[in-house]
Amino acid sequence: MPKKTGLTKGGTLRYDMMPLSPIARVTKVAISKRGGTIELPIWGQALKDELRAHFRDMRTLECEAFCEHTANEGSYVETDPDTKDRYGIPVVKMTIGILESNVKQARYMGERGAELFHAMGADEIRHGITGGMSWVLQHGTARFGKDPKSSVLDPNCRSHDVKNLYVVDGSFMPTSGGVPTTLTIMANALRVGAHMREAFVKKEL
Ligand SMILES: Cc1cc2nc3c(=O)[nH]c(=O)nc-3n(C[C@H](O)[C@H](O)[C@H](O)COP(=O)(O)OP(=O)(O)OC[C@H]3O[C@@H](n4cnc5c(N)ncnc54)[C@H](O)[C@@H]3O)c2cc1C
Repeated sequence: MPKKTGLTKGGTLRYDMMPLSPIARVTKVAISKRGGTIELPIWGQALKDELRAHFRDMRTLECEAFCEHTANEGSYVETDPDTKDRYGIPVVKMTIGILESNVKQARYMGERGAELFHAMGADEIRHGITGGMSWVLQHGTARFGKDPKSSVLDPNCRSHDVKNLYVVDGSFMPTSGGVPTTLTIMANALRVGAHMREAFVKKEL
C-alpha cells in the first residue's frame, strides 16, 4: 500500500464478465446511471431503454473490491428488547458502525479497480460504494483467541465458556481481512473437525 495514501491496508480486486442472468443484471442497471456514480433507482421506460442498450449495444466487464470492515465499538450484536420470535425468544439485533478509514479504503480500491478499465479504453466506467459495507460477508461475532477476556472461542474454535460447544462458521474470524472468506471458513471447519476427532479419541470431549 503506497505511503502517501495514509491507508494501512488494501483489499482484493476481482474482475469478471457480468453474469448473463437478466435478473442479476437488472438489479445493477436499475440502480446505476451513466456518469460514474451510483444514483437513484430508475423505473419504467428509462429502465427498459437502459436494459435494451445494456444487452444489445454493450459488452460489460465488472470489478468487485473486497475491503476490510474493521471491528469497532459501533458494531455489535444484542438481543432485541422489542421483537420476539414465535417461541417468545428475543431476536438478534445487529448494529453496524462504519469507520471512515474503511470507507476511504473502499473508495481507494474502487478507483484502482477502475484504472484497468481506463487503460483498456472502456467507453463508460461507473463505480461506487454500496453504503461502505457488505451484508453478505459477516465475521467477528464469536471471534477466536487465547484470552477469554477478548475472545469467545479458543484457537480450536471451542467456546471458552460452554463446554463442548464448537463454532465453525464465519464468526470465528475477527474480520474478513479484505478477501471473500468462504474457502477459509470451509478449511477451518475441516481443521476443527480433525481437532474434535483427535480430542474424542483422547476422551477429551
Ligand atoms: C449473494 C451472496 C454472494 C456471495 N458471494 C460470495 C463469494 O463470491 N465468495 C465468498 O467467499 N463468499 C461469498 N458470499 C458469502 C458466503 O456465502 C458466506 O461468507 C458464507 O456462506 C458464510 O458461511 P457460514 O458458515 O458462516 O454461514 P452460512 O453459510 O450462512 O451458514 C449458516 C447455516 O446455518 C443455518 N441456520 C441458521 N439458523 C439456524 C438454526 N436456528 N438452526 C439450524 N440451522 C440454522 C442456515 O440455514 C445456514 O445453512 C456470498 C454471500 C451472498 C449472500
